[in-house]
Amino acid sequence: MVHAPNRPPPGAPPVRINLYSDTQTRPTPAMKDAMMRAEVGDEQHGDDPTVHELCDRMAALMGKEAAMYLPSGTMCNVVAILTHCQKGDEVVAHETSHILHSEGGTHAALTGVQIMPMRGPKGMFTADELRAAIRPKTRYTPPQRLLEVEQTANIGGGAVWPLAQLNAVAAVAHGEGWATHMDGARLMNACVAAGVAPKDMVASYDSVWLDFTKGLGAPLGAVLCGSNEFIGRAWRWKQRLGGSMRQGGICAAACIYALDHNIDRLAEDHANAKALARGLAQIEGVKVEDPETNLVFFDISGTGMDVARLQEKLQMRGIAVSGLGGRVRACTHLDVTAPMIDEAVTEIRAALKAA
Ligand SMILES: *Cc1c(COP(=O)(O)O)cnc(C)c1O
Repeated sequence: MVHAPNRPPPGAPPVRINLYSDTQTRPTPAMKDAMMRAEVGDEQHGDDPTVHELCDRMAALMGKEAAMYLPSGTMCNVVAILTHCQKGDEVVAHETSHILHSEGGTHAALTGVQIMPMRGPKGMFTADELRAAIRPKTRYTPPQRLLEVEQTANIGGGAVWPLAQLNAVAAVAHGEGWATHMDGARLMNACVAAGVAPKDMVASYDSVWLDFTKGLGAPLGAVLCGSNEFIGRAWRWKQRLGGSMRQGGICAAACIYALDHNIDRLAEDHANAKALARGLAQIEGVKVEDPETNLVFFDISGTGMDVARLQEKLQMRGIAVSGLGGRVRACTHLDVTAPMIDEAVTEIRAALKAA
């Protein structure tokens, strides 16, 4: 059977503090109200006014010509890679990237690209390191075609690529004639944390997408942005993959609501993540990485307990966290309040004491 990552152990109480992921936010009554009132049409046919409004707003926000609504962030990566690349092309991305680890092997199964894994702290690499990864163009080498970066870098600890470094690696890629693609699952967290406008943050990237189901709190959907020409070609892949929808406006309305109400508040999630990290750092044997956004990674190997055991103990206390790359990940989001952070620290301390 395929592993179900968050199935509670038998007898576990309902989850009271959900630090498992920012994907687990529930639409609020106000968001649901916006969904109820959405004007809808046939999205696939180009007739859904609410999807059009979302795409127009996203294109403007990202400073791109066009945008496309898709069911998920994963589909945005798959559609973008299929649109930029041919089978056998090489995509250069960090070794911790989502496209390598968390898309079910889709790039072997469907897109047919190979991915060159780059090393470097916090899910990032430098322009010099990228230059060193450029292959000679011979009949032996795979054609390098695309640079892919994650902003923020998820397994990199929710770290924010500095704007100058984003631009520098993109310049190397463009100098080689490659395209550039940004996985912006948590792009707004990066923009809020760095105080950089989205269109400046993504200016060097030919395509970029934003997930509405992470910290933005919508139930479904992600928007891929790029040039008219790129989005025009991407539509064929959306159709082929079954990503064309019908009355998608119901969900697009939740995304529009999120654009209006849930961006500035990401700063609260970042403050809560910092408070959580400060609290965890006081626990003996716990090593915490200083969070830049809403993801807090900590190492408990000094406590004698392993990640799965801690997860289970916390679930019995009504608290959910995830395990990622041998570390524990706790994620703050709009359903997590400051008092919950204090309580989570107390519970984690107690669970670890029982080691
Ligand atoms: C969540 C995530 C994705 C995939 O998004 P889904 O909407 O879950 O398909 C891609 N990249 C990163 C960095 C993510 O965190």
